[in-house]
Amino acid sequence: MIPRDHPRYRSLVIRERIADAALKGIVAMEGVGAHGRGEAFDYLIGEKTTESALLAEKTAAALFLSAKKPVISVNGNTAALAAQEIADLQEATGAAVEVNLFHRTEKRVEKITALLEEEGVEVLKGKFERLLPLSHDRALCLRDGIYTCDVILVPLEDGDRCSALSAMGKTVIAIDLNPLSRTAKSASLTIVDELTRALPNITGSCSHLKGEEIEKLIRDIDNKYFLRSAVKEIMGNLADAMD
Ligand code: ATP
Repeated sequence: MIPRDHPRYRSLVIRERIADAALKGIVAMEGVGAHGRGEAFDYLIGEKTTESALLAEKTAAALFLSAKKPVISVNGNTAALAAQEIADLQEATGAAVEVNLFHRTEKRVEKITALLEEEGVEVLKGKFERLLPLSHDRALCLRDGIYTCDVILVPLEDGDRCSALSAMGKTVIAIDLNPLSRTAKSASLTIVDELTRALPNITGSCSHLKGEEIEKLIRDIDNKYFLRSAVKEIMGNLADAMD
């Protein structure tokens, strides 16, 4: 039991959720490592949504609202941490939800699908085909989902797939606490924020964004600005620690 008054209560609860999901076979052991890297960057960023991340989240909502065929790609870590938040985002955007795993087994796909459905997510199903130009199993996707989408949200992605999706002409929105990652650099829009903080902010923005504001947010997208702002935030926090 983690005491509620622990100064890092939220982070510890999230870590416990990842550990439980790993024991249940929902999160791959490699996913536990990836979570640790995320935690380290979150510490450096101050475990809060920065002003620039909030703008990126609003911009993500604008991209979803103007998309013809949006898709949310879900892996084990995302399902374990944010199944409910994915359900809410799906309701706000009408996006399809597709399970896509790096460490893929049919059993894990089934477990993740069941977990998402328990929280009210409508999971896209069908015949998975090797349609993405990648050599590993992340190439597998649904023709009616990721393959033909125009906007795709890839929380906690790896750089190869993010680049492949961008090269296919898709607008890729990444959520990644590491502003130095290949994913962060190759996405159309990178949200440098923790997954469970970022998703409700995107969903919240969907309910109040209107025509002209949506167009302006999309016109002004400058991913380098979002990455630089995150690095500056980290540098500021490191400088403060030297005082
Ligand atoms: P790349 O190929 O993009 O350089 P990578 O190979 O390091 O990155 P992964 O090992 O798949 O990518 O790691 C996923 C990324 O997700 C890490 O950069 C980590 O910072 C980030 N991450 C992990 N947990 C969270 C979380 N809860 N919220 C946001 N980002 C997270």
